[in-house]
Amino acid sequence: MSAIPICKVARGEIIRRRFYEGGKGNLPQKTFFPADSLRAYLTDKKIKEILLCKCPGCTADLDLFRILEPDARSPQITGQYYKTSHRHNPRPAYALFALLIYVEHPLLIFGFLDDGDFYDDDLERSTTRKPFSAEDLKHYTRDFYLRNPLDFAEFAMTFQIAVTQFAIPYMDNGNFSSYSASTTLPFIEERQIGRHFEDGRYTAVGANGKVFRFKIHKEYRKFPVCSSAPLLPKLFH
Ligand SMILES: [Zn+2]
Repeated sequence: MSAIPICKVARGEIIRRRFYEGGKGNLPQKTFFPADSLRAYLTDKKIKEILLCKCPGCTADLDLFRILEPDARSPQITGQYYKTSHRHNPRPAYALFALLIYVEHPLLIFGFLDDGDFYDDDLERSTTRKPFSAEDLKHYTRDFYLRNPLDFAEFAMTFQIAVTQFAIPYMDNGNFSSYSASTTLPFIEERQIGRHFEDGRYTAVGANGKVFRFKIHKEYRKFPVCSSAPLLPKLFH
């Protein structure tokens, strides 16, 4: 019996770190992959092990790129590389790498980093734009589409579905943000508390928009002030 490849082991570990709630009372179902638990698992050592995976899928993906020492690229994923280079702002790619592990193509990370200059902040910004298309993904994956169109189509589809559970926006300012409808917001323990009137009042009963209260998952709660007040209203019309 052959050993399970490290990329598959890592996929299972990432799935185990998925946040999930729902199914009790009127609590809506919610599932996403919090970046803090992804970072805790994806140590420099673990990332290097995954980048050196020699399973058939990873071998084929690595063959798309001219990279002799894949494990030497770990600092680009952790952001450590940018702390010692001319770039001031460390740009890690934990969520992106975890997403690619989840869709069973971890070594495609090189196309995102090298060809796309694409990191976790770009992944987060994608929540305010139109969803990823297969054409977008061709840009990051070299000749994958040309070499194996069917495998590429499967990758693109699973990526497009899974990305909404990894690209989670941080709540770090008070500005109005408009997210695409498919975005998973890091709101947990959501409960409806009343209804909203057009004059701004809201009440426990009535018509018009529904009012919810919720907490923000601790990883994404980055407001400069009032971070200790986790309960906030949100409105749906
Ligand atoms: Zn592998």
